[in-house]
Amino acid sequence: MTFHDLNIKKPILTALDELGYTTPTTIQSAGFSVMMSGKDVIGLAQTGTGKTLAYLLPTLSLWKFSKEPHPQILIIVPTRELVVQVVREVEKLTPHMNLAVGGVYGGANINTQASMVLQGLDVLVGTPGRIFDLTANGSLQLKHAKKVVIDEVDETLSLGFRPQLMRIFDLLPEKRQNLLFSATLSEEVEGFLGVFFENPIRVEAARVGT
Ligand code: ADP
Ligand code: MG
Repeated sequence: MTFHDLNIKKPILTALDELGYTTPTTIQSAGFSVMMSGKDVIGLAQTGTGKTLAYLLPTLSLWKFSKEPHPQILIIVPTRELVVQVVREVEKLTPHMNLAVGGVYGGANINTQASMVLQGLDVLVGTPGRIFDLTANGSLQLKHAKKVVIDEVDETLSLGFRPQLMRIFDLLPEKRQNLLFSATLSEEVEGFLGVFFENPIRVEAARVGT
């Protein structure tokens, strides 16, 4: 199996070729078509198995150019470091697409981030607190975010971000695709899934060595 066997948007395939990426990891190939179908997914695979590309390949393949300045894809991650990493991965996959990506996180000037958001982003990556703050000050609208990823759900919840997530959910369109990714399925994650999501499809990649 190669990336060319998946129905990945052409300019992304070109980027993958240029990066020298040839073979999808298990979570990337196993999750691709179900995510392309628009269904909600919970993806479980240990750290280092390529979960970022697992959700970026289908969401970016489904993305369509729009003049609408509000993000269509919202990616929520627990830390500033991850925001930077995920923004970089989006940039690596989209040099041949006319797509604007930006990252927002706490501990940095909110006005600088607000002006970046106001210039119009297609893909927004951020931590829960800062995403909410930018909606509260009127810089960010989430009504067009029809693809919502929560990466590292386990860590996001254990850091205490559940209230911010709930406030963000209130601002999202009702009709949307939810993609959740985690290394572990803790009781806290199970409880969260049970309350907010109706039967997400579980995609798992077995641990290496089992
Ligand atoms: P996880 O989120 O599961 O911990 P990441 O998405 O951060 O893993 O990926 C780990 C590393 O593997 C990254 O440096 C990424 O660029 C690389 N990677 C991901 N998928 C592939 C692939 N199919 N081929 C080669 N390298 C990959
Ligand atoms: Mg990850």
